[in-house]
Amino acid sequence: NIAYVNGEFVALEEATVSIEDRGFQFGDSIYEIIKLYNGKLFKLEDHIQRLFNSAHQIRLDLDYSKEELKELTQQVLEKNKNSERKEAGGLYIQITRGAAPRSHSFSSDLEPTVIMYLLPAKKIESEIREEGVTAITMPEQRWQHCNIKTNNLLPNILTSHRAKKEGADEGIFVTEEGMVTEGTSSNVFIVNNDKILTHPADGEILPGITRELVLELAADKFNVQEKKFSLKELYQADEVFITSTPKEVLGVIEVDDKQIAQGEVGPITKEIHKLYQNYIEEFKTR
Ligand code: PMP
Repeated sequence: NIAYVNGEFVALEEATVSIEDRGFQFGDSIYEIIKLYNGKLFKLEDHIQRLFNSAHQIRLDLDYSKEELKELTQQVLEKNKNSERKEAGGLYIQITRGAAPRSHSFSSDLEPTVIMYLLPAKKIESEIREEGVTAITMPEQRWQHCNIKTNNLLPNILTSHRAKKEGADEGIFVTEEGMVTEGTSSNVFIVNNDKILTHPADGEILPGITRELVLELAADKFNVQEKKFSLKELYQADEVFITSTPKEVLGVIEVDDKQIAQGEVGPITKEIHKLYQNYIEEFKTR
């Protein structure tokens, strides 16, 4: 696995950054995970755009243009063997503000740290896809800028850890007002009376690339709305599903010990996943 680190290509085991890197010390850092299908980067343009949006919002000036970063992703792929590209799950990109003597405030002339490398595939078994997953809800404890894809992920990882300890597959955040925002690493959709709802893309959620594609694909056939919904609506939904780059579209059959859709992945969830898969099949042949 050949990684890119600040202008150099090195074996992953030998790739290092400074202990004074602000990504390490402060989580002053942004990232993307881009899925590989058949060794090809899926929705590359959208991910690079989101990375630039994140950079802009944390006031990180990049020396790279979007085209240059895209070109770099291709170089990382080319440095790795065809078999490794095909086996990899995705490409991880992280950009930190750079290394500097420790201080909360930063100078704007730091040299950002840029790394990229291939992540192993996390295969979701077909039984899990068919049978669905479970989730627990937890208080939303994050900030007002969840649209930034930052490596500051403590609330996400602690909630994810808690979910796992309780035997659930995902943790879903619920605000003090009782509204559902998103999962620790996924966006949440509910189906209610043939209406499909998901939280609007504001500062309370990450604007998922999978979410966006699902909204597009579903719009032809279903009544989809970007509208907040409550925990009560989540419990009472006809169907619940989550979306993310690795998970694609995954049915949720239980939330906080409450069964959803009689404990089965619902028909609309299945149909939307089918639309998503068709899109991917078409992408692979492009
Ligand atoms: N929300 C959060 C908090 C996430 O970490 C992710 C995974 N990146 C998502 C949503 C889904 O985003 P995407 O579809 O772009 O992977």
